[in-house]
Amino acid sequence: NVNRKPEIQEARLKLPVVAEEQVIMEAIRNNTVVIICGETGSGKTTQVPQFLYEAGWSHPDSANIDYLVNVDNPGMIGVTQPRRVATVSMAKRVADELNLSDKEVSHQIRYDATVSNKTRIKFMTDGVLLREMSQDLLLTKYSTIIIDEAHERNLNTDILIGVVSRVLKLRAELSREDRQKIKPLRVIIMSATLRVADFTENKTLFPIVPPVINVNARQFPVAIHFNKKTPLDHVGEAYKKITKIHERLPNGGILVFLTGQNEINQLCKELRKRYPALPPKATKKEIVKEEKANALESKTDSTPAGKADIEDEALELGENQVEEDFDLSSDDDDDIGEGFDDDELADVKDAPLHVLPLYSMLPTEAQLRVFEPPPEGTRLCVIATNVAETSVTIPGVRYVVDCGKSKERKYDVETGVQTFEIDWTSQASAGQRAGRAGRTGPGHCYRLFSSAVFDNEFEKFSTPEIHRMPIEGVVLSMKAMNIDNVVNFPFPTPPPRENLMKAEKLLGYLGAISTTNRHITEFGRTMSLFPITPRFAKMLIIGQQHGCLPYVIAIVSALSVGDPFIQDYHLDEDQPDTDDELESRELGNITSESVAEKERRKLVRKKYYSSQMKHVGLDPSSDILKLLNVVGAYEYAGATTKFCEDNFLRPKAMEEIRKLRRQLTNLVSSNFPEIDICLDPKMPPPNAVQLKVLRQVITAGFIDSVAIRQDVLDTGGGKGVRYKNAKNVVYRLLWTEEEAFIHPGSILYSQEPPAMLVYSELYKGGKNWLKCNTAVEAK
Ligand code: ADP
Ligand code: MG
Repeated sequence: NVNRKPEIQEARLKLPVVAEEQVIMEAIRNNTVVIICGETGSGKTTQVPQFLYEAGWSHPDSANIDYLVNVDNPGMIGVTQPRRVATVSMAKRVADELNLSDKEVSHQIRYDATVSNKTRIKFMTDGVLLREMSQDLLLTKYSTIIIDEAHERNLNTDILIGVVSRVLKLRAELSREDRQKIKPLRVIIMSATLRVADFTENKTLFPIVPPVINVNARQFPVAIHFNKKTPLDHVGEAYKKITKIHERLPNGGILVFLTGQNEINQLCKELRKRYPALPPKATKKEIVKEEKANALESKTDSTPAGKADIEDEALELGENQVEEDFDLSSDDDDDIGEGFDDDELADVKDAPLHVLPLYSMLPTEAQLRVFEPPPEGTRLCVIATNVAETSVTIPGVRYVVDCGKSKERKYDVETGVQTFEIDWTSQASAGQRAGRAGRTGPGHCYRLFSSAVFDNEFEKFSTPEIHRMPIEGVVLSMKAMNIDNVVNFPFPTPPPRENLMKAEKLLGYLGAISTTNRHITEFGRTMSLFPITPRFAKMLIIGQQHGCLPYVIAIVSALSVGDPFIQDYHLDEDQPDTDDELESRELGNITSESVAEKERRKLVRKKYYSSQMKHVGLDPSSDILKLLNVVGAYEYAGATTKFCEDNFLRPKAMEEIRKLRRQLTNLVSSNFPEIDICLDPKMPPPNAVQLKVLRQVITAGFIDSVAIRQDVLDTGGGKGVRYKNAKNVVYRLLWTEEEAFIHPGSILYSQEPPAMLVYSELYKGGKNWLKCNTAVEAK
């Protein structure tokens, strides 16, 4: 009762997965968990849901039809995807292949869905399914769950696999009690690589080793060409490479990997300027069609403004605005004709090029254009993010141009801060990208970096996202999904137990989870909306009084990026003592050169300190408020490099702080529409009331990082000793009772040290040093 069009039928018979249909269905019938591995483009995402559908899963009457008796489960076939692009476009493709409507083969992403009571196959992001499970843990609406792109090891996918492993067990037990009421669930995990040991060899996850089916895709050889040099500007380099391929090399589509939306739009614009999209003999009708299609790109998607998935938002905002000068003089003098016969090479300057962008925020209709054959007589050129690495397959690609980078969630172990950064991908990812050129025939991959960079700077495999995030962020996300027992959770690659326990404790201190039952609080739920570490999220939420929010956003951004001051000028903590220096000079064991060097350093330090004092501003009791002043002054001065030079600041850090400020401001205004907030470049310094609130906000955010002066403790909270400065003054850490000292780089060092302070960094050198401090009591 499946009615496919003949051309669809013909195309799917060529897919390697279809050849394995019997094997796959046999395995699914006999096992509750099955793992399918197959090269990108082998047909996993589009075909496996159809196999299940055809075999009768999801049939409303599956229990009463004879030939469906082995299936006996009318629940939907659920398919999860890590990305929205793939969720929507794959649902549409499968609906087309089955000749069904989007009411039957539906999609659901955070703010858009076509699901109906007729839905049989449902594509959704893994985030959507996780949220759904907080209402219906047993997934009673589903007969099968297909978890796709498991090789990506996204946080959500990993957590989903863990939860689903438990649901499987529960459903199996319950159905043994009463099969009429509840039916067992089937789970299929699909991966584009063979690296699935974390799922198969993890007995806590799946006690019975699930069968792994390898789909052998026909893969043609792909010649890899490395750049001799690694250019800084990968967008400009990609442009050069594309022009060479297009003008010199034989027919075949070009697929280009860049890191994000802005880069992609910029390159599309430049290429469209250079090459016509249609051949000269194009009819008026074709021209109108092309213009209409291009207009789709700027159309807003069905996503309401400002309500995009937080994750996507974080990925797409806060991105460098690339202003490239497309320098055509090639400094990497490669021979583009390498690997081709002379008679294959051409030299055509203005052949038409059909340039299309592909990234997650692009409206669906515009995304789907990459699957259509390009207009007669033109060459297809798709400029994509790593969504084209494994999630979608673009037909007819013969050349891949890979910048070697991607935007990833990063986590700074020292500051506990997560950011989205552009960095090298892994060797495995680069291999996947290259493989895109060998689907329909032999292909070529041009890597815009040298083989030395590839060998020395690329990780072998990408680290699972769970190990790239601060653990308290992971735990908070899980609590927000109502997964309370995080310590015993069956992670595919579990983080250390004690880290999980520590994270729970911190979330308790911050008020994100109840300290009695460990459930998430309302407050914690709001915190989980922000892509920053929970303590900073807390500061953002409580910072909404007295118009303090813009300041809190600036503070959180600065703390997230990390200390922007150039470290060299900080006093060396092992010898913060000028007396010692004098002494050693008297000992005469240093040469006069090093004395001169020391004198020079002393001068620089003096200049450094006077610049620090300038930023101390109205409140000399907090390094964090000093940071706030610096951020404000930098913006006021027009965010120039000169300002950074004059003030001992790292320009890159200041630029990142700026971007994060913009991103957080956008997030706040989209999540809390009642708050009217915008980024004011001329933000006035905080007034006295605001300063007080800010100090309270900081204290609340660092409530687990309190240090008290030892002598004050000794007098039972009395006045204690009178100190001129913080040198050698002993502090006691409130929760661990360790001894610590104010770091000489702190502005609290050179004044009477406060009785109590909160620190935002603990530096463990020979001694414990407290950095980036705020006095708890105002002076
Ligand atoms: P896998 O999940 O194994 O990577 P897919 O099922 O996504 O493979 O793709 C199988 C084939 O279907 C590919 O050759 C791809 O080009 C084709 N395909 C997928 N979506 C579309 C679409 N919207 N239009 C045309 N062809 C498509
Ligand atoms: Mg797929």
